[in-house]
Amino acid sequence: MNHDRSRALYDRALSVLAGGVNSSVRATKPYPFFIQRGDGAHVIDADGNRYLDYVMGYGPLLYGHSVPEEIQAAIQSHASAGPMYGAPTEIEVEHAEFVSRHVPSVEMIRFVNSGTEATVSAVRLARGYTGRDKIVIMQGGYHGAQESTLVEGSAEHPKPSTAGIPESFAQHTIPVPFNDTEAIEQVFSEHGSDIAGVLVEPILANMGIVMPVDGYHETLRSLCDDHGSLLIFDEVITGFRVGGLGCAQSRFGVTPDVTTFGKIIGGGFPVGAIGGRSEIIEQFTPAGPVFQSGTFSGHPVTMAAGLSYLEYAAENNVYSHINDLGSQLRTGLSEIVADQAPTYTVVGTDSMFKTIFTRDGAPDPDGHCSGGCQQNSDCSRFAHCPKTGADVSRAETDRWERIFWHEMKDRGIFLTANQFESQFVSYAHTKADIEQTLEAYKEAL
Ligand code: PMP
Repeated sequence: MNHDRSRALYDRALSVLAGGVNSSVRATKPYPFFIQRGDGAHVIDADGNRYLDYVMGYGPLLYGHSVPEEIQAAIQSHASAGPMYGAPTEIEVEHAEFVSRHVPSVEMIRFVNSGTEATVSAVRLARGYTGRDKIVIMQGGYHGAQESTLVEGSAEHPKPSTAGIPESFAQHTIPVPFNDTEAIEQVFSEHGSDIAGVLVEPILANMGIVMPVDGYHETLRSLCDDHGSLLIFDEVITGFRVGGLGCAQSRFGVTPDVTTFGKIIGGGFPVGAIGGRSEIIEQFTPAGPVFQSGTFSGHPVTMAAGLSYLEYAAENNVYSHINDLGSQLRTGLSEIVADQAPTYTVVGTDSMFKTIFTRDGAPDPDGHCSGGCQQNSDCSRFAHCPKTGADVSRAETDRWERIFWHEMKDRGIFLTANQFESQFVSYAHTKADIEQTLEAYKEAL
């Protein structure tokens, strides 16, 4: 494959954009391919190379790159009518009504412009509502580029995970290992009356893919109830992907107090949202005392794209298509990995998938996942599928990059470029695409 034009563009970008990109994960090695356009499940780069895409914009693109006509029409009509005003529009109300109709925990919603903005506002809301400062997060969880959650270490020794965040900020955050019931019980017994909320992805989706073990979210729910803390599900990735229109919370049968959304609900345009019970969401200004505001929030083009995305999913068999393909991909991949690379584990659910290099991941002789996590039975036949973020961070990331990023890219398959980020099947993918992908994995491994 020729990449001359991408290489030249990257050279130019390095002079004017920090690291040559506008979001760190895009700076793939040795240089990224620059994308010219999308076509269904494919992207075409600046040199005319075509790739089958499983990055899907890191999650928003439920339909791939060529949306159904009615979605396109809704986007175009709102783009040409305005595109935005600084005054309310009907489409914002319609979108909020749709979400609250389909997600039982959501009575009211506030739209913002990114997943980061949603989690920033959710943390401020939890603090404002409870009058407490501490936020519990999961080690290996991700909630965007924000001060309260870019914190690593342990409950006893939290510290900022990046330059630019004061040590003192991190003192208000308590990182705990995901799926560890004892650890969270201990934290609540020590700090319960200071905890404003627990912020958790229902499925860790930025650290490989780590499923909750049976009962973990129920434990979080009852600890929050017992101590008057808010349970906040970050469904920026899982929202309207896992569990269909009811989101991951319906799949796991646990009702959070607050949910953050992003990605899919904006139909490919910048979006975030905070939803929950009215008495909580109405703490936001101007209804309540917790300041929240944004020039672009509820942007009509985004609202039109997002709402038509969701309406189309409600009226067509979108989730059964993408989940069936996801299942075929994970099953095929599990067989290949069991045969050729048993130290890898295949993880995922619905339309999400990933392979993780877990050195101790020997195949389970019975052919079942033995860990009690809530993966689809087809997802993993390995004894050592990850249970915590630490399990994934011990994976061999260099090897992953060599095999799955470079080798797959050379075979025309676009995956996320590191061990940690989830990959996605879209409505534009076909059975033939899955077969082509499995062949490429076989060769690459
Ligand atoms: N929360 C989760 C669970 C995410 O996966 C992400 C981004 N991948 C964010 C929040 C931040 O969203 P954004 O990049 O739109 O700010």
